[in-house]
Amino acid sequence: MEVRKTPNAGLGMFATAHIPRGTRLICESPLVVLSELADLPDLYRLVEALPAERAAAFWELAAYRRKAEEVDWIPAIRASYDGPSEDFEALCDRVLDAWLIYETNRFTVRSSNGARNKMGLFPKAARLNHSCRPNVFHRHNHYINRLTIHALTDIDPGTEICTSYIDIVHPTQERRRLLRHWGFKCTCDLCRSRNSANEHRRGKLETLVSRAKRDAAERSQKTNVPQWDHANALGKLEEILELMTEEELDEADTRAEILALAADCALAIGWAGMARDWALQALEIEERCLGSDGQEWEAAKARLDKVERALEAETGSG
Ligand SMILES: [Zn+2]
Repeated sequence: MEVRKTPNAGLGMFATAHIPRGTRLICESPLVVLSELADLPDLYRLVEALPAERAAAFWELAAYRRKAEEVDWIPAIRASYDGPSEDFEALCDRVLDAWLIYETNRFTVRSSNGARNKMGLFPKAARLNHSCRPNVFHRHNHYINRLTIHALTDIDPGTEICTSYIDIVHPTQERRRLLRHWGFKCTCDLCRSRNSANEHRRGKLETLVSRAKRDAAERSQKTNVPQWDHANALGKLEEILELMTEEELDEADTRAEILALAADCALAIGWAGMARDWALQALEIEERCLGSDGQEWEAAKARLDKVERALEAETGSG
């Protein structure tokens, strides 16, 4: 891979050789990590404490400049400032510059055992531009404290490598709203073509996926879930999977989540054969999106093992 200029999105990352689907392209530790509640002075202190080479990597990153900035952090900087007063404004500019770099390039840093997620900066991954039809998938793996980037498709030399900054299961208008945080209007194939069939399917997907996740959370709270409830849920999940196929979302991690829910429902009804197909597909997607050293892979493998045990018991007794 190499970093070079793109026609309209500043710098971007490009493939220099053929990259097979599932390849782990980046595995990097964070430069800085901050809690979601952290403020500008917190970040600046961390950046100032970086070793020279790491600090240089930080300051090289691009930043999106917004029109109006809040100034409520300035008193905190002033309180600990003892330099000449004529330099104070320059310091404030630098604190703000650091913050804008962070806001533009940060990724979620996931925490283990239910603790609040944080945000971190990963200088290589920060070079990836956004596409609503991404060819790589990014996620922070908290087992190894690294951000990993995996190829979702085969990537030809010369192709720009793009990840999606947002959940892509949304119609164009909602994707645009979410992308406003980064201050650009997406011009990927999907956004440019914006045909009504895509819009309709993504609108439906948006509703069905959030409802399916909510219902699954509710089901997991209950001790006795009736069969028809699982069967009903399974019908909805199959509809989602079909829509995702039509939208070419075959490699999305969200698809793996839906497949896992479908496997659980099928198993609860006693359709172990069907459950096995879905559990296996979920594991394959997790492996391609995230590799096999993270929590998602472990959970998907445990699910597949459970389904296979059920299948064995079934054939054993039948
Ligand atoms: Zn787009």
